[in-house]
Amino acid sequence: MKFSTLFLFLLLTVFAVGQSYVNDVPNPKNSGTNGYVSNPDGILSTDEVGIIDNICAQIEQNDSFQVAFAVLNSIGTEVPKDFAGKLFNHWGIGHAERDDGLLVLFVMDQRRIEFETGYGTEQVLTDYQCVQLQQDYMIPHFKNGDYSTGLVEGAKAIQQALNGKVVDRQMTQSLEEEQISYEQELLFEQQNRKRNLIIGVTAWHAIGLVLFLIALLIVRFRQDPYDKYNTIKYFGVWIWAVLFPITHIFVVIFAKKLKQRYRDMIRFSSKTDEIMRKLGEQDEDEYLSRGQVTEELVKSVDYDVWITDKSDDVLVLAYRPLFSKYSTCPKCHFKTYFKVYDRQVIAPSYSSSGQGERKHECAHCKHVNVKTYHIPRLRRSSRTSSGGSWSGSSSSGGSFGGGSFGGGSSGGGGGGSSW
Ligand SMILES: [Zn+2]
Repeated sequence: MKFSTLFLFLLLTVFAVGQSYVNDVPNPKNSGTNGYVSNPDGILSTDEVGIIDNICAQIEQNDSFQVAFAVLNSIGTEVPKDFAGKLFNHWGIGHAERDDGLLVLFVMDQRRIEFETGYGTEQVLTDYQCVQLQQDYMIPHFKNGDYSTGLVEGAKAIQQALNGKVVDRQMTQSLEEEQISYEQELLFEQQNRKRNLIIGVTAWHAIGLVLFLIALLIVRFRQDPYDKYNTIKYFGVWIWAVLFPITHIFVVIFAKKLKQRYRDMIRFSSKTDEIMRKLGEQDEDEYLSRGQVTEELVKSVDYDVWITDKSDDVLVLAYRPLFSKYSTCPKCHFKTYFKVYDRQVIAPSYSSSGQGERKHECAHCKHVNVKTYHIPRLRRSSRTSSGGSWSGSSSSGGSFGGGSFGGGSSGGGGGGSSW
C-alpha cells in the first residue's frame, strides 16, 4: 500500500514536471504580435527575433508552412526529441488539414538542436534533410558560440528548403490514417487475444469434461465393479481440480464417490455363483501373502478380500494409489522398494566431474541396492540479457490549438544534432 502510494506520487511528480516545462515555454502566438519565435531566456536579441519572425512569416505567406522556434536555456532532464514532440502538439503548429508544421527546438545546456516535423512537412523535408541542414548551416556557428547567427542562418536555410514545396493533402491524410489504422489494429489484436484466451479456457474445461463422460460411458459397458473402479480411478485425483479449476472439483468429488461405490458393490462368486462378502482389515491378513501384508503396511497397495460363506471361493483385489514412493522390488516383485537416500559423494567442480550415490531398499525382502553415478562437471552459464525495446509511438495531435498556429500535429519526424 505504502509502495503504491509512493509510486503514484513519483509518477504524478514526473508527469507534473514534464508538463510544466512544456507549459512554461511561452507561446509566441500569445504575445499579441504575430510571432513565431519563443525566446524566454533572451538568447536572441530583439532584432534577431524580428529577423527570424520575418523569415517565418514569409514562409507562411508564400508556401503556407508554419515554422516555430523555441530557443531555451534548459528543458531539465527531458529528452529534446520527446520534448519537441510534446511542445509541437501543445502549440498545434501547422495547419490541421495539411499538418505542415515545423518546430525548431534549441536547448542550450544540452547543446542540442532538434527539428520536429508534421506529417505534411515530412513529405518535403525528410529526416535526413533536417540533419543535413543543421550540420551545414547551424552547427558550425554553434560550435563558435555564435548561437544567434546559427539560428538566423538555419531559418534562411529552412526557407530555401521549403520554397515552392507543396504538401499533398491526400498523402498527409493517408499517413495519418495509417497511424490510426495501426492503432486500431493493435486494439483489435488485443481483443482477439482476450477472446482466444476465453475460447481456450472453455475448450480446455470442455476437454476435461468430455474425457470424464467418455470414462463414464466405458464404465457402463464394464461388468465387474473392479474394472469399473479402474476405469474411473484417474478422475478421483485432485490434480484435476488444479488443471480445471471450479468445474472439476465436482468431477473429482463425484469420481471419488463412484470409486467407493464400485469397491463396495455386491459380488457373486464366479465359481459357485454364491454371494460373497468383504472381509474387514483385521480378518483379511490370513488370506494375504506376507509380501502383500507389507504392501498394505507401507500403503503402496490396498487389498480387499472377498469370500463366500462356505469359504470355497476367495477373491483378492488390489487397489493401487496413483502416486506412491514405493516401486516394484527387482527381487521379490512386491511394491515395497523405496529410495533410502540419493546423495553427492564427490562434489563436481568447473574442472572435474563428481560422483553421486543412490541407495534403494526393499521393505519386504530387505534387498539392498547401492548405486554410484557420475555427476557432470559444472559449466559456466553465459547469461544473455534480452534487451527490451521501447515500442515507438507517435504523439497524437494535441487539440490545444494554442494561439493562431493551425492546430497541426507532429508526425514524429525530424532530426537533431549536437555540438
Ligand atoms: Zn523385495
